[in-house]
Amino acid sequence: MDRERGILFVLSGPSGVGKGTVCKALRAQKLDIQYSVSATTRNPRIGEVHGVDYFFKTKEEFQRMIENNELLEWAEYVGNYYGTPIEYVNQTLDEGRDVILEIEVQGALQVRNSFPEGVFIFLTPPSLEELRSRIVGRGTETEDLINNRMTVAREEIEMMQHYDYSVVNDEISQACSRIQSIITSEHCKVDRV
Ligand code: 5GP
Repeated sequence: MDRERGILFVLSGPSGVGKGTVCKALRAQKLDIQYSVSATTRNPRIGEVHGVDYFFKTKEEFQRMIENNELLEWAEYVGNYYGTPIEYVNQTLDEGRDVILEIEVQGALQVRNSFPEGVFIFLTPPSLEELRSRIVGRGTETEDLINNRMTVAREEIEMMQHYDYSVVNDEISQACSRIQSIITSEHCKVDRV
């Protein structure tokens, strides 16, 4: 029996926990799932490509996307805007294909309201100390930005109660296989088939 609509998976958690790395590792496994590309007003980091990592926008362009209801959710995060273009998500789900969003917590909570049937996965660090050292290790942030990100992270971890699953990112391959198990279980749910 074919499902009509794809399943929306939301992978969220504090910045620095490794959402991007875990998503990349999932992509490498060539799962039958589509990855949404977000819009952002932050500057590209070295190696990032427009349309692949993000759609890089000016504040004015982003504002227009909000006004035209082009975003499923959006959030201001450490001084920049991030948002999920809605058209790609709806179109892909309508085609019966699954979509995964990799977004921060405020945005995930908005999606929780508009897509209650989505599957919400919270990626947690093994500890706050480990989270800080991962952000520092990335070497892309100033001390002030690191402190901002840690403050946000502490608040975000309290939001875990609103999610369906929690996955510890102690080791990337382990975290990936836990996420794959969640995807498989969701497909096996009686009310989905
Ligand atoms: P970064 O600047 O490190 O790429 O991302 C900062 C944070 O924004 C990360 O937690 C990332 O998951 C989140 N993020 C990326 N895209 C989106 C989006 O479309 N919406 C929301 N709400 N957060 C996003």
